[in-house]
Amino acid sequence: MMKFAEIIVDVVNSQVDRVFDYIIPEDFLVNNGDMVVVPFGSRYIEGYVLAIKDTSSYSIDKLKPIKEVVLQQVIKPEILYLIHEMKSKFYLKYIDLIKLVVPSEIRNGQIKTQYSKILRLNNDCDIDNYLQSLPKNSKNPHKVYAYLQNKLEENYTTLSKMFTSSCINKLLEEGILLETKKEKRRKTATLKKENKVVTLNKYQENAVTTVLSSDFQTFLLHGVTGSGKTEVYIRIIKECIKNSKTAIMLVPEISLTPQMCGIFENIFGENVAVLHSGLSAGEKYDEWKKIYDGRATIVIGARSAIFAPITNLGVIIIDEEHDNSYISDNNPRFETYKVAQIRAKYNNCPLVLGSATPNIESYYKSEIGEFTRLELPIRANNKEMPRIEIVDMLPEFRSGNNGIFSNKLLQELSTTIKHGNQAMIFINRRGFASYLSCRSCGYIPRCTSCDITLSYHKECNELKCHYCGNRYRAITKCPNCGSDEIKLGGVGTQRVVEELQNLFGVPVFRMDVDSTKTKDGHAKILTEFSNTKPSILVGTQMIAKGHDFPAVDLVGILDADLSLFFGEYRASEKTFQLITQVAGRAGRSDVEGRVVLQTYFPKNYVYNLVANYNYKKFYEKEINLRKTTNFPPFAEIVRILISNESEDVARDVTRDIFYQLKDVKVEYKDRIYFLQAMQSPLNKLKNKYRFQIILRYDVELSQILQQKIYNILQDANQRKCSIFVETNPLSLS
Ligand code: ADP
Ligand code: ZN
Ligand code: ZN
Repeated sequence: MMKFAEIIVDVVNSQVDRVFDYIIPEDFLVNNGDMVVVPFGSRYIEGYVLAIKDTSSYSIDKLKPIKEVVLQQVIKPEILYLIHEMKSKFYLKYIDLIKLVVPSEIRNGQIKTQYSKILRLNNDCDIDNYLQSLPKNSKNPHKVYAYLQNKLEENYTTLSKMFTSSCINKLLEEGILLETKKEKRRKTATLKKENKVVTLNKYQENAVTTVLSSDFQTFLLHGVTGSGKTEVYIRIIKECIKNSKTAIMLVPEISLTPQMCGIFENIFGENVAVLHSGLSAGEKYDEWKKIYDGRATIVIGARSAIFAPITNLGVIIIDEEHDNSYISDNNPRFETYKVAQIRAKYNNCPLVLGSATPNIESYYKSEIGEFTRLELPIRANNKEMPRIEIVDMLPEFRSGNNGIFSNKLLQELSTTIKHGNQAMIFINRRGFASYLSCRSCGYIPRCTSCDITLSYHKECNELKCHYCGNRYRAITKCPNCGSDEIKLGGVGTQRVVEELQNLFGVPVFRMDVDSTKTKDGHAKILTEFSNTKPSILVGTQMIAKGHDFPAVDLVGILDADLSLFFGEYRASEKTFQLITQVAGRAGRSDVEGRVVLQTYFPKNYVYNLVANYNYKKFYEKEINLRKTTNFPPFAEIVRILISNESEDVARDVTRDIFYQLKDVKVEYKDRIYFLQAMQSPLNKLKNKYRFQIILRYDVELSQILQQKIYNILQDANQRKCSIFVETNPLSLS
């Protein structure tokens, strides 16, 4: 009987999100998840088998046969299920989903497994006899024999180096040595880290046993910085492995991966596979293949590792769950924890989201019972949290200190260096956008219609509101006090490094996007820093997370204000999280930690709550604010970004979509709080003009409205604009 396959074809740039039917030739063995080659128009292209069926709704003479099966089951059943679920829940295109689950290194077929030659003694030979037959002065063959008797096997290159390749080749020729092939692992650098054996405290113990005795459920592990969350993850994973299950552990960014990998590889050895964007193509191929073949039982990696083709999961862990990197900021857009939930449910295993400063929305879910909260309220070393001192920069400035560092921070740095310890200096940096402020009175321009801080755009010397699109001329004089000392928030890492070197004459390391461009750049800088005392590490957001350097006793935070006044509804939350994370780097072992936070707004409630480590109070304040102002989690914000090379086309399509949405707004009246179309603040990018529509509505309308928006956009898709939809976007630029 004839069979048909539903196939997703890999057409670049296609707006078409369609599944095509193809005939399965009689002598072909085709399964779900196979990668195939099919005729498409006048050419052949790659495709992926979604389903197999006995009938097709198209007439047979219209259908073409599959030409070739390239890779069998490249998409495993669980991952295929994930694709279907993500498709229906997040309205993503099939081909985009395929690209997530089958990395390009696997798809393009250009990267191959590398093998190494392994040699061993041929025990079927009379080796003694052979060796005796050799001339007296021939020593190397004897040495090879002794070496391999002891070591059993060794790879060709090593042996050749030790005993000359002419000798090894000769022994191979004579049949004394035998050769086998072994898959080689192109291996990434890890930061070596010894693992202390510790006894869990009662909070850690409770967290571990609760998670281990659970079926599918989402846990929020709320543990202060240094409370030993990593130890909890390790115990849970150990237990899973013992029960012949597997685990995925996600970490925010490559900066964090070398250290985490070091810890895990020390404990779990070759069972670990690592997946993140810092890998070379060959490395990525090897790691993916290792997982696919079932040779890895633990996957550690960044966001994309949630799609690892591992089977039989016993737990999924997302460390630092509040981190922005868990939300993809370009197409296809998804929230990692929701993908993790689908997989955890499929495997009926627990999902653990860990953080010292959970997302407001996650904490809210743990309050209403959607997540189960587990608390680690104390530091594992029983030490106090590091003392955070807030330094008001205004009096410093008025009394003549117009440098980067307050006197307090300089004093503390001297103390740290005198004691041979280490300091971290954190510089806030957020994308291209920034704000203007008056150095004399602290005035910051805000939008007259939204009361959100205006972002400064250098290219046009304008201030813009990212929520409503209002534009204002940049100020040169303060409208509040008349001073003309207007400063642009933010200083560069390089300048900070230079000044510190001049002031203290100790090694100063720099970690930012520029200094970590080279391969394994992060691991190198971190290793050097950890081996140098006294020393200072200067860095951006990258140094905020996860690092555990026992000799760091001081953390300095410059320009904390930059994120507090960043024009978005999550600004306070992000600031609270960032400062807590950075502060948490200090005093993690025996030395007591100190934190100096420099600000022009010392009275701001966020700083005061952060200095007291009062997450709970901050949460309560923030959630009330969100409720009264109708922001997430009580509302949902959707941004539709429309872009095209032609400004007119982009504007027309935007207008069309906008009018259709206006009709929807009429239907739901005041449950849709906001609807507006505008030029995107970043109005031209890579030669494309950008417009956006922002919609904010009651969260209870989520399902209905998402569906309606999807339908409207399906029609608009015909018009060759690229359209990108985000729910609760991280940025509105
Ligand atoms: P977190 O991830 O919560 O910030 P870590 O897991 O990095 O904290 O732990 C901080 C430090 O405390 C580490 O050096 C770790 O080895 C140590 N530690 C963890 N659990 C214990 C424990 N039960 N007893 C003693 N030390 C511990
Ligand atoms: Zn002023
Ligand atoms: Zn505004």
